Amino acid sequence: MKEREIPYKIYLEESEMPDKWYNVRADMKKKPAPLLNPGTLKPMTSEELQGVFCDELVKQELDDVNAFIQIPEEIRDFYKMYRPSPLVRAYCLEEKLQTPAKIYYKFEGNNTSGSHKLNSAIAQAYYAKQQGLKGVTTETGAGQWGTALSMACSYFDLDCKVYMVKVSYEQKPFRREVMRTYGASVTSSPSMETEVGKRILEEFPGTTGSLGCAISEAVEAAVSREGYRYVLGSVLSQVLLHQSIIGLETKAALDKYNITPDLIIGCAGGGSNLGGLISPFMGEVLRGEKKYRFIAVEPASCPSLTRGKYAYDFCDTGKVCPLAKMYTLGSGFMPSANHAGGLRYHGMSSVLSELFDQGLMEAVSVGQTEVFEAAELFARSEGILPAPESAHAIRVAIDEALKCKETGEEKTIVFGLTGTGYFDMVAYEKFHNGEMNDYIPTNEELEKSLSVLPIV
Ligand SMILES: *Cc1c(COP(=O)(O)O)cnc(C)c1O
Repeated sequence: MKEREIPYKIYLEESEMPDKWYNVRADMKKKPAPLLNPGTLKPMTSEELQGVFCDELVKQELDDVNAFIQIPEEIRDFYKMYRPSPLVRAYCLEEKLQTPAKIYYKFEGNNTSGSHKLNSAIAQAYYAKQQGLKGVTTETGAGQWGTALSMACSYFDLDCKVYMVKVSYEQKPFRREVMRTYGASVTSSPSMETEVGKRILEEFPGTTGSLGCAISEAVEAAVSREGYRYVLGSVLSQVLLHQSIIGLETKAALDKYNITPDLIIGCAGGGSNLGGLISPFMGEVLRGEKKYRFIAVEPASCPSLTRGKYAYDFCDTGKVCPLAKMYTLGSGFMPSANHAGGLRYHGMSSVLSELFDQGLMEAVSVGQTEVFEAAELFARSEGILPAPESAHAIRVAIDEALKCKETGEEKTIVFGLTGTGYFDMVAYEKFHNGEMNDYIPTNEELEKSLSVLPIV
């Protein structure tokens, strides 16, 4: 074993933790396109957005100008309970791969939600409480966001109503119980509780649901109740802002040892962890200070960046949300039953979409079986059992490290390990039994769901 001059884990002292979030939009010359009102096709005003979202979060959503936004002390205190998250040097994985590459991962699974989602949940719950609201509604796919929000709401004593995508509700009953432990009420979506749920069930009887459906239901539940607002765990620019804590900590830890990454990799569902991880580094690129390669990894079964269209689309299946300009597969796209529930969204953050469109970020898509092969290799060498979503980033990090083995390049690779996979053992079981399904949508299927974009 060679001497390890860099520690296995790079931690930050409490005093070194960021006290401001970084808003990458401030440094983008060409800004992400604004959200549009689906009726008038005019940019959504703050008044319109305030009917759905908390006032302070609307301000953050519309802020393209301020690069740094102070993190309120109450949120920083909560962060201190489970952050900073470790930046780990994957010495054992490097050894296993026999690669000259240096691999680091930022591990966000060290909290009960098992993912990075708590970083934004606590912020959103805080602003809802500040506004004097009674509660919030939301959707959850794999369950991590619902869990994170339940934790955040119980901390601030807010009511929390979660619409959980039916396939997850059935596959992951224990997720549901974790949420209920934190006092949330959990409904399988689509449900008969909302008008939009009834409509979707009529149109697609027997559907196992999707994030897009659950969003529509949660929005309806919020706007039809006094003292409630809707909160979203990904996609929105405010969520990327809160998740910048991941990138800021990563950068502070790397800077401590004068490490400059060549390559930064993350899985991309709605884009929040990846956006958060790369934001401060992307800022340096945008300001002309540094160069990095960024890679977004998505499932081949739901390939919004690699096979979607950059266009205005609905954020939800029921078409009740504003229109966002993003890489999309069409709001009616129903992904096949993929085991990375957190990556089954038809669109992508408009910030990341714009950066990708400008050629500042790359994207690749990967199949499920190869993802689980990487997950298992990682679990066996680094000890952590990764979430299937996170394993998408692991796959590409390993592939890049293997390329370095061929070329002899000592690249420094950083990837986001967004969470743990303890609630995904049904997926691991399928993999072990050789029953994994690698469904990839056909061009015809994508053309069909893209043929109904609201603006052409
Ligand atoms: C939700 C989730 C993701 C994907 O969401 P993004 O907004 O794209 O980050 C990835 N990994 C885990 C563990 C998740 O829970």
